[in-house]
Amino acid sequence: MNTYRTAIAVVLVAAVVVAFAVLLMRGGALPGGAPPVPDRVGKPFDGKKVVKTDAEWCAQLTEEQYRVTRAHGTERACSGAFWNSKDDGVYECVCCGQPLFDSGTKFDSGTGWPSFTEAVELDRVTLKTDRGIGMTRSEVLCSRCDAHLGHVFTDGPPPGGLRYCINSVALKHVPRVK
Ligand SMILES: [Zn+2]
Repeated sequence: MNTYRTAIAVVLVAAVVVAFAVLLMRGGALPGGAPPVPDRVGKPFDGKKVVKTDAEWCAQLTEEQYRVTRAHGTERACSGAFWNSKDDGVYECVCCGQPLFDSGTKFDSGTGWPSFTEAVELDRVTLKTDRGIGMTRSEVLCSRCDAHLGHVFTDGPPPGGLRYCINSVALKHVPRVK
């Protein structure tokens, strides 16, 4: 009987180990897993990186802009200027003015943060593995000034399936010139 129980226990433990390994390989939200979207270094639209000291960013940005973009913060859901906005135009980086997202790719994700299916150009953003808060995510940064913008997830709408979840405070909306 003891042998039977031991066998059951071994099978159960093996099942848990296999399930954990499968989750990790699929890039689930577990720490140590692969990021949802592969890391990628983008390029500035004008080929010029913007590098400033913390003091310079402090002087240029509001406290909330600084907290989110330079200190990897997150604004409260539904608190930003753009989560519910349908205004036509382009969203630029609040730090360096690089065009990042187009209102044509913005969709209502129901999360309380502005959500986009893609960047205006793939090179306008840099994607970096973020293992903070006990899970593995893909951090989205401005490729020109390395501002923290938000994260990208793989539960977006087809065909691309991506959801760029971006802080309003990291963006500046510029109406499209007609
Ligand atoms: Zn920037």
